[in-house]
Amino acid sequence: MTQRVNDFPTWYEATATRGAPRPALREAIKAEICVIGGGLAGLTVALELARLRANVVLLEAKNVAWAASGRNGGFVSNGYAQGIENIQKRVGLEAARGLYALSKRGSEYVRREIAEGDPSLKMGDGWIVALRHRDDGNLQKYRDMMARDYDENFTFLPAEQTREKLNSSRYFESISNPQALHFHPLRYALMLAGKAEASGAIIHENTAALSVQKQGAEWRVRTGDGEVVARHVVHCVSSLDRTIHTVSGRAVLPVATYVAVTEPLKQDAIRTSAAVADTRRAGNYYRLIDGGRILWGGSITTRISEPGRLAEQMKRDMVATFPQLGNPRIDYSWAGLMAYALHKMPLIGRDKGGQWFATAFGGHGMNTTAMAGQLLAAAIAQGDDEYRRFAPYEPAWAGGPFGRLGVQASYWWMQLRDRIDEAGS
Ligand SMILES: Cc1cc2nc3c(=O)[nH]c(=O)nc-3n(C[C@H](O)[C@H](O)[C@H](O)COP(=O)(O)OP(=O)(O)OC[C@H]3O[C@@H](n4cnc5c(N)ncnc54)[C@H](O)[C@@H]3O)c2cc1C
Repeated sequence: MTQRVNDFPTWYEATATRGAPRPALREAIKAEICVIGGGLAGLTVALELARLRANVVLLEAKNVAWAASGRNGGFVSNGYAQGIENIQKRVGLEAARGLYALSKRGSEYVRREIAEGDPSLKMGDGWIVALRHRDDGNLQKYRDMMARDYDENFTFLPAEQTREKLNSSRYFESISNPQALHFHPLRYALMLAGKAEASGAIIHENTAALSVQKQGAEWRVRTGDGEVVARHVVHCVSSLDRTIHTVSGRAVLPVATYVAVTEPLKQDAIRTSAAVADTRRAGNYYRLIDGGRILWGGSITTRISEPGRLAEQMKRDMVATFPQLGNPRIDYSWAGLMAYALHKMPLIGRDKGGQWFATAFGGHGMNTTAMAGQLLAAAIAQGDDEYRRFAPYEPAWAGGPFGRLGVQASYWWMQLRDRIDEAGS
């Protein structure tokens, strides 16, 4: 398992209370369903199954949400890592609408769980996506297309209005998405774990699943010191274990990305409590948190880089965008590992042998893990087949190390195209 990338301390861990670790599994037990992986995908499946009164056990190799789910940017918005225009090209308008509606169901779920469970988890509403070059009309066309085809109401902001909120000459026009929100993802995940347990689910931490074998009509999941025999098994391990379930494991690529958090600042650069991103193919995203700190994210690599070094790069990006920030101290910097399929869509389904999987949420996992959890719980407990909307995005081999090289090369290519776009403005 690739552990190191996720091991650097985060602002989220510093501002959440985990409580005592849950006991590791040290015996042989039976359950209806065994969920493997305690990130947001696994936690949501387990919670929704428990709410449907299923008997569910979740095995987490380390601690709940220690990986991407507890160390991400915290932006929640509709859609997928793949752009809706490309989804539409591949599956047609009607099927794309169905998929987009499912992604909205994921965002609505997060909003509802926060409202009912702990409203203090929400840290702001809205998301501004800003251009770093002059608009050639495409942003307004995109806004119109999203309203017409996907019932999504974005607001277009001319350059002056964008710069009122983001005090930087680097920005031009933007769109604002009032339906998005941003939150504390680790505290959210811990809340889901608590809700799942209160509904009857059992969670074992420090319990890696080592193998899954068919045993009659059931599955036998072996761990270091115990085993679970269950009618269903659900794999939610992202790219952290690509061998426990080879069908989905060989179809994902691990991609690392980075976050830096400044000291609390008195600043006149970011004048909005909304989350912000730029439209570059290889762009940055940021938001104000916790009494004036800036949480700044960006950069992707297929090899894991030292977050301290990447923090310097992110600080350079931050100060190049907002020179008035001076030389802010970086109090936290960390990396996280995502899983991408080559088509950049989640892998959600059931393999020919009968094992379930939910993985490859890429950089858009906050709404899509919530969606996947609901879909798979309804499929397993109630025979619902809506998850089949993802059938056009079946797991396919992602190319092993050659796939990695391709991802890194395409990122450099994207950076180059971004620079060419900006040079014309
Ligand atoms: C820095 C960063 C910023 C991001 N920003 C955003 C954002 O702003 N908005 C957004 O929507 N998405 C964002 N994402 C993406 C999002 O965080 C992920 O898509 C999502 O969290 C994936 O959830 P997951 O449950 O699939 O995987 P993970 O959170 O990686 O969880 C997988 C879990 O499985 C466990 N596991 C693995 N193997 C085993 C095994 N054999 N046995 C038991 N357990 C096992 C691991 O220990 C881990 O806890 C970001 C990601 C990163 C890294």
